[in-house]
Amino acid sequence: MLKQNLEQVETRIADAAARAGRKREDILLLAVTKKFPATVMREAYEAGLRDFGENYVQEFEVKRRELNGCTGARFHLIGHLQSNKSKKAAEIFHVIHTIDIAKLARRLNDELDAPASLDVMIEVKLSAEDAKAGVSPEDLPALVEEVGAYPRLRLLGLMTMPPWSDDAEPSRPYFTRLRALAEAHGLKHLSMGMSHDLEVAIQEGATIVRVGTALFGPRKKD
Ligand SMILES: *Cc1c(COP(=O)(O)O)cnc(C)c1O
Repeated sequence: MLKQNLEQVETRIADAAARAGRKREDILLLAVTKKFPATVMREAYEAGLRDFGENYVQEFEVKRRELNGCTGARFHLIGHLQSNKSKKAAEIFHVIHTIDIAKLARRLNDELDAPASLDVMIEVKLSAEDAKAGVSPEDLPALVEEVGAYPRLRLLGLMTMPPWSDDAEPSRPYFTRLRALAEAHGLKHLSMGMSHDLEVAIQEGATIVRVGTALFGPRKKD
């Protein structure tokens, strides 16, 4: 089942890249494994996936103990990060997509042992929904500058999550906006697009698509 799903997702990414005149290898497929056990992650690893997205520090802390031997796997935190969990997050993740305040960036930087460095992205809130995390576009320039000044953080780019919709097209203006913001700051990476809207995201310049359901099926509710 995973193998077939992966083939389908690969075809969708390749087709979208071709239509946009982009190279497939410029787009990273991030397998979102939140709420799935480590056995599923291992199966995905064996199917060739190397980048995994997790939403909760505690959940992944437990699962990673069962992932010994997954050489070359990279783990990304894509859920909201509270400052009090930053030390643990810096230890167990390779990339943090959800920096939204300067205080969090400072803590991550200070907690890393030199010369260690951590790849980070800034989450931008582009919709009016209160529930969405992220820095506002107005506060983004200051945060980009602060994160850029921390010697142990490597700022890769921006991440966003549009308001939920069953359709892909409503996401487009959010993706367009994120791309414009990244270009304005000379940032290369755009973490945007999920199972239902990855084609639109790729058309708008996504370099990392975060895909859960289309690979692993529906998740358990909380
Ligand atoms: C769960 C999640 C995803 C994956 O969503 P699917 O619709 O299952 O592909 C992507 N990004 C974030 C931030 C998520 O929390």
